[in-house]
Amino acid sequence: MNIVIIGNGILAVTTALRLALRAKESDKIYIIGKKSRPGSATMAAAAMLNSFCEVEEGSLESEIDLFRFELSYQATRMWPKFVMDHLEVAMQHDCLIDDCKDCGGATGGCFELGTYLINNTATDSLDDANYNAVIKALDDFIEPYSVVDPRDIPNYKPFERNRATRAIYIPNEGWLNPKLTLRSLDASLEGFDCIEFIDEEVESIEKNGNLVENVILKNGNRVSGDKFLLATGATSSEIIDRSNLGISIPRIFYGAGVSIQIKSPNDPHTKAIRTPNRGLACGIYTVPFYTSPNVPLDEIIIGASSYLSPVPIKGARVGSVQGLLNGAMEQINSNFFRAEITAINLGYRPVSADTYPVIGRTSISNLIIATGTKRDGFHLSPLLSEVLMKIIYEEEIDSRFKVFSPERKLIRELSREKAIEISIKHLISSSYQHGFVPSHDRLGEKIKEMYRKELEELHDKVGAFEWGIPPELLDLYRYGHIV
Ligand SMILES: Cc1cc2nc3c(=O)[nH]c(=O)nc-3n(C[C@H](O)[C@H](O)[C@H](O)COP(=O)(O)OP(=O)(O)OC[C@H]3O[C@@H](n4cnc5c(N)ncnc54)[C@H](O)[C@@H]3O)c2cc1C
Repeated sequence: MNIVIIGNGILAVTTALRLALRAKESDKIYIIGKKSRPGSATMAAAAMLNSFCEVEEGSLESEIDLFRFELSYQATRMWPKFVMDHLEVAMQHDCLIDDCKDCGGATGGCFELGTYLINNTATDSLDDANYNAVIKALDDFIEPYSVVDPRDIPNYKPFERNRATRAIYIPNEGWLNPKLTLRSLDASLEGFDCIEFIDEEVESIEKNGNLVENVILKNGNRVSGDKFLLATGATSSEIIDRSNLGISIPRIFYGAGVSIQIKSPNDPHTKAIRTPNRGLACGIYTVPFYTSPNVPLDEIIIGASSYLSPVPIKGARVGSVQGLLNGAMEQINSNFFRAEITAINLGYRPVSADTYPVIGRTSISNLIIATGTKRDGFHLSPLLSEVLMKIIYEEEIDSRFKVFSPERKLIRELSREKAIEISIKHLISSSYQHGFVPSHDRLGEKIKEMYRKELEELHDKVGAFEWGIPPELLDLYRYGHIV
């Protein structure tokens, strides 16, 4: 069987690895994408393995949201074994990269478990509500955590006025170095005879009858196959637009996100430190960014901004960089003032028109799509790669995955009333993140009323009477990008 994987981000390469491990001698697996991985979300990710820390007030109420949470929970459990299995494969094929040679895998340099969640007063009470929701979920699911005094968090030295009043430590939620993970997965894949990397982009997908026959590369060459996996992240819709396939999926948008790598020699972080989700995004966090157990533990990644766009944004926005640096210095460690910036990453989170993943077989039976993972795709990859491998081999998967089928109608889980309430909270929280200080004459209350009126009008305008617009999609509805 010839399998063509379009894209080379974390979903593509983890699936390729699973496929390579069960490939027959005559099988071939092509992985198509530029070596430099332009726009890759994976290359900009932190990459935190967070399930509970991502819980928000009211985010676990529907069946679909509980299913999504269950997947995230399972993925957290899969990572330690996935890392160890991968190291073993790399050793068997003599493909271990130098940085991984002294590594103990789950206790190595680029992967560690443990996250501190802090509740500070830098923004508004949405943080408190989301922090409480995380605690409730941890209790409900009997997940281990401990309450800690924020002053005892290693290398946590915020500005006095932004200090946390509460904090917990969650031992099972960790992080990986995403760039190193990709580099080492690439190296392992190179060790398989069935794998061929093609350093080019796909222009379009070509169908013959009811089956995909080829992809056409930007250089004009064709690559043919029996099964095709479209996993190019945020560009997936554009490729479908350029192909004459007669299928339609929830549009995938560019969730432009910035993260910043710094070297801060006196602050050897070993654990992630983060706030709850806030103001249309994931809050502020710092995550260790090591490449090996043998390097000084002084590199940290700060994340992450979020700006949703119908078209790619070419460079990191000044406001995003400023917001992240201020947030990290004021809310995590004021010593970062002296740190050196080693990289500013910009990646496009693949965000679907209903915010849910787009995963599964299409009505063209040999075309499978995997995108729309928003800000959790790295974390989900051990699990999704297994599901995608089974779909490619036409094996049974959990029937609940049907809700994420590529050709579905948009999932509309929020009621209009709830969506408007949440949106007001997120918009106000977002303003606080950017320095909003209301005047004493009830300005905060007046702004809430202004938002309510505008959001009611927007819902009327787009015909959202029985359903509500998810907060992060407001601008896309405002400007007519989702109809
Ligand atoms: C700043 C930031 C922080 C994040 N933090 C986290 C986190 O902490 N935890 C987490 O789990 N997730 C995080 N995410 C989200 C996560 O990165 C994504 O969900 C995940 O990486 C998506 O993987 P992917 O393989 O689908 O897409 P991508 O990683 O975007 O890969 C797609 C690849 O396809 C290539 N490509 C594009 N067009 C074409 C074409 N026409 N032909 C061939 N190849 C093409 C691209 O160059 C790219 O290499 C973060 C994202 C960002 C931007």
